Amino acid sequence: MSLDLIPGGTIGILGGGQLGRMLALAAARLGIKVHIYTDSASPACEVAAAHTIAPYDDERALAEFVNSVDLITYEFENIPAPTATKLAESCLVRPGPNVLGVCQDRLAEKEFLAAAGVAAAPYMRVDDAGALARAIAQIGRPAILKTRRLGYDGKGQVVVREGADLAVTFRSLGGVPAILEAVVPFSKEISVVAARACDGAFAAYDICENIHKNHILKSTRVPAGVPMDIAVEAVRQTHIIADALDYCGVLAVEMFVTDAKSGAGQAFALCVNEIAPRVHNSGHWTLDGAITSQFEQHIRAVAGWPLGATERFVASKASFVEMENLIGEEVNSWSKVLADPSAKLHLYGKEMARPGRKMGHVTRLVKEPGLL
Ligand code: AMP
Repeated sequence: MSLDLIPGGTIGILGGGQLGRMLALAAARLGIKVHIYTDSASPACEVAAAHTIAPYDDERALAEFVNSVDLITYEFENIPAPTATKLAESCLVRPGPNVLGVCQDRLAEKEFLAAAGVAAAPYMRVDDAGALARAIAQIGRPAILKTRRLGYDGKGQVVVREGADLAVTFRSLGGVPAILEAVVPFSKEISVVAARACDGAFAAYDICENIHKNHILKSTRVPAGVPMDIAVEAVRQTHIIADALDYCGVLAVEMFVTDAKSGAGQAFALCVNEIAPRVHNSGHWTLDGAITSQFEQHIRAVAGWPLGATERFVASKASFVEMENLIGEEVNSWSKVLADPSAKLHLYGKEMARPGRKMGHVTRLVKEPGLL
């Protein structure tokens, strides 16, 4: 274990959203300063010791930033990979820039998963309308066309149904390189939030069940209520992914639980949807529901410190932890949340409650009545 940072040191964070804000707060509790680098005024700036607002390719601003920090991490995966690679020439960047190469491109991610022996939805590469027609002939309809880059919260994807014109469908996503994915008949969406330390130590939180509304995460419930063999397999796959990436920090792996029989004869099978190389919305429950929050865990990992305990506070079988996102105008319910004795309120300090915008979240530790 190499302690690459001591209290009083500074972590640079690329990205300034709510994830950066919660990372900065967790770092402050450990006596660590944070310098946020973001391309627009954003929630993390308010709680950081320093911030820079400049484009991600501003060489002068990046040079000043790198001189002011002891190591660098990121809170969203779409920072330009060349920026991370350049910074890594003069500073520790964790997780490493190699991770961005895999996670910024859905095709690279699928190829990485296949090479790692982890199951994902059947897919084909689609570079033009002709390739889409060939992919549909192979995969069938309905299927999902997803842009290779810059897709999130359902953006950059479209379902290809019976009768849909393929040239129009391809153009509807901007005519950019894409993949076509088979629709997975899932019974549950789950995620594994886990951390890998720089020396290879690995620790996962309890599995999360995720409910989406309009393609945006609405709520997470832990435990996910999956059979033990599925939970063990989900963590095993996440561990394989983290090792194969030589990962350092917290990551989340989103998976589908399907009813199909897997090759191993299990009653359920797992299919990886996406790897998020960062702290993740489905891990927000750990702020109030686990011994070490995902934010503290990420800071510990990138600093080269030992990982913290991931145990859930309410571990009785009949109890669970719930996280609910406050999206858009839902944030106006904040005073009602305060009146609920089981709820903890987290607000991100964003001024405009636009539709679909994550404004805050609520965590609840729920105990079945009658249990002591
Ligand atoms: P993504 O942006 O890939 O995370 O997709 C957003 C949401 O679309 C997922 O959380 C699923 O609910 C759904 N989805 C994405 N890909 C598939 C798939 N291959 N089969 C079924 N549902 C999917």
